[in-house]
Amino acid sequence: MNSPLLDTDRALLWHPYTSMVEPLPVFPVVSAYGVRLRLADGRELIDGMASWWCAIHGYNHPALNAAVSAQLCDMAHVMFGGLTHEPAVRLAQKLVDITPSALQTVFFADSGSVAVEVAIKMALQYWAAAGRPGKQKLLTVRGGYHGDTCGAMAVCDPVTGMHSLFRNVLPAHYFADKPGIRFGAPWQEKDIAALATLAENHHEDIAAVIIEPVVQGAGGMWFYSPEYLNRLREICDRYDLLLIFDEIATGFGRSGKLFACEHSRVAPDILCLGKALTGGYMTLAATLTSIQVAETISAGGQGVFMHGPTFMANPLACAVALASIKLLEQTDWQQRVKNIQNQLQTELARCRDLDNVTDVRVLGAIGVVEVAQPVDMHTVPHWFVEQGVWIRPFGSLIYVMPPYIINAEDLTRLTSAIYHVVGKLP
Ligand SMILES: *Cc1c(COP(=O)(O)O)cnc(C)c1O
Repeated sequence: MNSPLLDTDRALLWHPYTSMVEPLPVFPVVSAYGVRLRLADGRELIDGMASWWCAIHGYNHPALNAAVSAQLCDMAHVMFGGLTHEPAVRLAQKLVDITPSALQTVFFADSGSVAVEVAIKMALQYWAAAGRPGKQKLLTVRGGYHGDTCGAMAVCDPVTGMHSLFRNVLPAHYFADKPGIRFGAPWQEKDIAALATLAENHHEDIAAVIIEPVVQGAGGMWFYSPEYLNRLREICDRYDLLLIFDEIATGFGRSGKLFACEHSRVAPDILCLGKALTGGYMTLAATLTSIQVAETISAGGQGVFMHGPTFMANPLACAVALASIKLLEQTDWQQRVKNIQNQLQTELARCRDLDNVTDVRVLGAIGVVEVAQPVDMHTVPHWFVEQGVWIRPFGSLIYVMPPYIINAEDLTRLTSAIYHVVGKLP
């Protein structure tokens, strides 16, 4: 499709991870409602992506719209230095109530990457304040994704996170193999042996372990045994390492539990939330930590935590986040996610019969079909759009994580489109 809008887009706009010289196709959207995106040419697509994990209640939801409108009439934004407001306070209380009980304080930021930066800085400041300033490295696993800012990128998978390109600016951290035991498969101790050895050998200079619990998202859409987290907690306790869980993708029900760490028996010292926090309406993220970490930082040399974004605790975002969590609590989201999981398992199973498919895996409202070769992003998005669905592959991964409100019929259209498109791939 050609239009002045697209021409200007091509000329001026960067899109995520794209080239200005060889642009990938983009499709103009004019509106969205429920699980549907309406394109400028009138076509409607069933959304399989929930706008990257975010739109859990679907688009244009009356309750979320009302929350934004009501807050807008009071104030869109005020600075958070020296001022406070009800949406922030109520949301902080709600997050403390619904997350593991050890997490008792909340730092609001404006994106997931910044929430990760905040978590890392908390860990470093904690050990500095505790009189162990040598603990400045992080320990993590391969296959992770924690955001695109430099601090976050330094703990992303070294290959997909392009560590060689940014070698001179990224701090070098410790990487263990990615957790290898699948979700649901029997646990084997050797899966965490390499990480345990790194912790044993280097704990004097490690501040924290950072990991996405159970679901590795953008680093490979991999679901691993929650037993890994139980062991990881023991290792962290043994060697004085803080444990950071990045639940920016998994938070708010996506994996079948409200937070993915609930698949395990353990809680982190620091928790990062984002993405679905506002039901996909506004950009907002939060970093929660324990009273102990908070008080140690506050009693340390600086006496304060050294971070403060301009748009910290934006009232519109906090108001819609509260409404989104309320909506979740009012619906039987567990049953919905379970139904999506069952249907994805049943309907994606036939993809295993296709020659180019190397794996099919499903957890909660996430379905993944892995193929042998990276997908051509110049053609494949068009194929999905022709099927009437919005599915955006990534590398050799074709995956869906639809809004929880999707009905069985629309979900079948997503899984059929995947089967059809994968069948056409080399
Ligand atoms: C998306 C994501 C981030 C980064 O969030 P942004 O809002 O894109 O900065 C960090 N961690 C995980 C696990 C994510 O999925």
